[in-house]
Amino acid sequence: MKTNKSNVLQVINVSKKYANVLANDEVSLTLNHAQIHALLGENGAGKSTLVKIIYGLVKPDRGKMILNGQKYAPDNPQKARMSGVGMVFQHFSLFDSLTVAQNILLGLDKRQSSTSLLDKIVQISTDYGLALEPRMIVGDLSAGERQRIEIVRCLLQNPKLLIMDEPTSVLTPTEIEQLFNTLNQLSAQGTSILYISHKLEEVRKLCGEGTILRNGQVIKNFIPSTTTSSEIAELMVGKKVQSTIKSKSRAKNIILNINNLSIDSRTPFGTNLKNISLKVRQGEILGIGGVAGSGQDELLLTLTGESKVKKNTLFYKNKDIGNLNPQERREIGFLTAPEERLGHAAAPEMTLMENCLITAKKSKNLMVHGWINFTKTGDFANDIIKKFDVRAGDNKSLAKTLSGGNLQKFLIGRELSQDPEVIIVNQPTWGVDAAAAQFIRQALLNLVSHGTAAIIISQDLDELIEISDRFTALVNGSMSTPRITTELTVSEIGLMLSTENAPK
Ligand code: ADP
Repeated sequence: MKTNKSNVLQVINVSKKYANVLANDEVSLTLNHAQIHALLGENGAGKSTLVKIIYGLVKPDRGKMILNGQKYAPDNPQKARMSGVGMVFQHFSLFDSLTVAQNILLGLDKRQSSTSLLDKIVQISTDYGLALEPRMIVGDLSAGERQRIEIVRCLLQNPKLLIMDEPTSVLTPTEIEQLFNTLNQLSAQGTSILYISHKLEEVRKLCGEGTILRNGQVIKNFIPSTTTSSEIAELMVGKKVQSTIKSKSRAKNIILNINNLSIDSRTPFGTNLKNISLKVRQGEILGIGGVAGSGQDELLLTLTGESKVKKNTLFYKNKDIGNLNPQERREIGFLTAPEERLGHAAAPEMTLMENCLITAKKSKNLMVHGWINFTKTGDFANDIIKKFDVRAGDNKSLAKTLSGGNLQKFLIGRELSQDPEVIIVNQPTWGVDAAAAQFIRQALLNLVSHGTAAIIISQDLDELIEISDRFTALVNGSMSTPRITTELTVSEIGLMLSTENAPK
């Protein structure tokens, strides 16, 4: 591979092995000047490892990189930034109680006076359409605004290459459009962008070039605009990706009844829930749409039993279960899968087997008289690993070593395998690749076809339209009247989601 002026970065035969996984296997990649280059692959394909190598967070075992014609081997992210490589992570690292400007200042490598910084923030926000008010407190901002802070922080350091990891997963359609305008402008002005995403239509619209990884290897370099989404998905997975099959709705008796539920958020920047009433039947999926921060976390906490609710607000099989704690709820077949995988749904430092005990010890009889049945627990974990195609070393792997999508498959598998009567899932396929997302949706559909009632909270509208029987929107902590999904038009859904119609 010859260095040429149109290259920004050449990655040459880079390999990285973790204990028993070859995460990057002789990866070679050329990023051209002023191009938006998509990096695609299933969960566990090696995308994060590759970008962490480029950003100096992980050292490759073999191979080399050339940045702007010079040998490039950053020891840490600061060196990467000094060489002109910036990265916007999927999870923002911001302090909620500080202002936009304070957060930006904290993230900069070089000291700057706050007055000149304020000017620069305003300048960059104006130049790139990244609307931000430097004095606002971050806790009051939307996901889109938080992301803009991270982008501005990167742009202040003048990157020649900007890496973006799943940038649109937390954004509303309007925010996505704004982001694309900014990225197109940056690339027109000469910045190269390496763009990780699972949203294939977005990639086709935005990216001029693309690379597909599978099992740590480069499978193909391709031109997104002339390759169909199903061709891309097939290359990622290595086989045809099927669409979900929904059996005819067989909604029966009301099993869950939420009655005029109001609750104040436990966090200062959370959303209070206002007079929520909802009835869910056996054999149906009720989809709840809404942008992040509309009260989803608060609703989930009341359903898991972590937030206390008033009497006569939460009925399961006609019994008031508002006073039951999370464990007691699980024992009566009322399961929940929160959005935050590590820390909430799974204990990061525990093995997959131990993580099974957390929620399934009673329902699966994994513990008897205080003794763990290791054979049974191991078999249960192995069943989930096999059935849900979880790519992990084995059932003794620590939860934190799994890639986000694989951990998600494991956690959803753990809950669905307990044959719940009611299951509530927040963001079932967040950060999960096309094939795994399809698998999870199908598993949910199969479960409700046997009579389980499901509430699916998601920011992915397409997902809700695909699998839900009825749809409702959570906006500013209030919920609209659920409607039959197939009877709704896209503009009606848009209206339900619009904050203008919601009570403040
Ligand atoms: P992707 O970003 O495409 O989902 P990753 O680069 O995160 O893929 O992971 C590639 C493979 O390397 C996966 O099998 C993952 O489990 C493994 N892996 C990643 N990070 C670690 C780590 N710190 N320790 C052990 N295995 C890891």
